[in-house]
Amino acid sequence: MILKVLVILVLLYVGYRIVVMILRRVKAQDVKGSQMHAKLSTREDLVQDPFCKIYVPKSQAYVKEINGREQYFCGSACCEKYLSEKNSLFEP
Ligand SMILES: [Zn+2]
Repeated sequence: MILKVLVILVLLYVGYRIVVMILRRVKAQDVKGSQMHAKLSTREDLVQDPFCKIYVPKSQAYVKEINGREQYFCGSACCEKYLSEKNSLFEP
């Protein structure tokens, strides 16, 4: 009789451990999924640097109005290089 009770207790414990493991895995997947979602939503706000062709988040981009159009750069250095390159093209 005592042995049967012990076996049932062990089975209950093992079952409990398995349920906890499965729940933990599901939670971990949920976190991964929401992180991917966040990455996807920020990707929509990316702008391309016309000089080095790097994509930067719009909020972190260096904005400069050139010929009435807003251009986004990864930094002021890229903007200056882009402008000097543009000016040299117009020189005879
Ligand atoms: Zn750049």
